Amino acid sequence: MDYRVLLYYKYTTIEDPETFAVDHLAFCKAHNLKGRILVSTEGINGTLSGTKEETDQYIEHMHADERFKDMVFKIDEADGHAFKKMHVRPRKEIVALDLEEDVDPRQTTGKYLSPSEFKEALEDDDTVIIDARNDYEFDLGHFRGAIRPDITRFRDLPDWIKNHEDMLEGKKIVTYCTGGIRCEKFSGWLIKEGFEDVAQLHGGIATYGKDPETRGQYWDGKMYVFDERISVDVNHVDRTVIGKEWFDGTPCERYINCSNPECNKQILVSEENEAKYLGACSYDCAKHERNRYVAKHHISNEEWQRRLENFDQEHQNA
Ligand SMILES: [Zn+2]
Repeated sequence: MDYRVLLYYKYTTIEDPETFAVDHLAFCKAHNLKGRILVSTEGINGTLSGTKEETDQYIEHMHADERFKDMVFKIDEADGHAFKKMHVRPRKEIVALDLEEDVDPRQTTGKYLSPSEFKEALEDDDTVIIDARNDYEFDLGHFRGAIRPDITRFRDLPDWIKNHEDMLEGKKIVTYCTGGIRCEKFSGWLIKEGFEDVAQLHGGIATYGKDPETRGQYWDGKMYVFDERISVDVNHVDRTVIGKEWFDGTPCERYINCSNPECNKQILVSEENEAKYLGACSYDCAKHERNRYVAKHHISNEEWQRRLENFDQEHQNA
């Protein structure tokens, strides 16, 4: 375990994101780091992996820069890299909320709650807890009693809220996400929308799980992460499994991408059912001519046909 995965962000002005990205990529590559970093005039949003020594050098390098001197790093121990490549990309926003009228979290954002304060909010019946992440993240794990917006992209969240405003009226609202960056903007947007009592979990689920007092309590399942680990543990008090297998509904925490390259849907599937159903989410995806499971496992046409017939019988008519 001499590798680390870093997760961090900072809303701060970066005058020339294009030049910054080029220089930053060169620095990261020189330190053998791998990961994904987004930069924009509003700041930086990154996650990367490397050895303990080289991630320490990265942190030191960033903290020496006035703009990032107080940037918080969430650190996970790991036994190797969590990414294959190193990217630094200039973007319009460091998280895409795509609002007509953008929110600057440095001016408008929800009250910051520490992990202990957030835990108290979870225990309070007058508080509504909103998960600001996507549906597939929620389905693998979430805080007990949290609201699950039915979205696959962050930018769809404002519309979803507008259609469900009645459940928030007159309530205290608390939002949470993986590392806190999405909530900075989302909670600011809620305030602009006219909600008065809006707070956010500072540092996100990643911080809550490591907090020595909360130790991730009231979190069910695992936390989805956007790297090769796919998921990590949060609750160190009373761990549960809530993910459900796509085909048979049994407890499952194993995510795969549908083997149809044009579908790619993320589904929780057991190893057994992945083989049985050719790594696909549906019959149509299983028979797709470029099915990746079939190619990877060198499945003969005859065997492919046999499994498709079985799929058809079990699920097509269901
Ligand atoms: Zn599919």
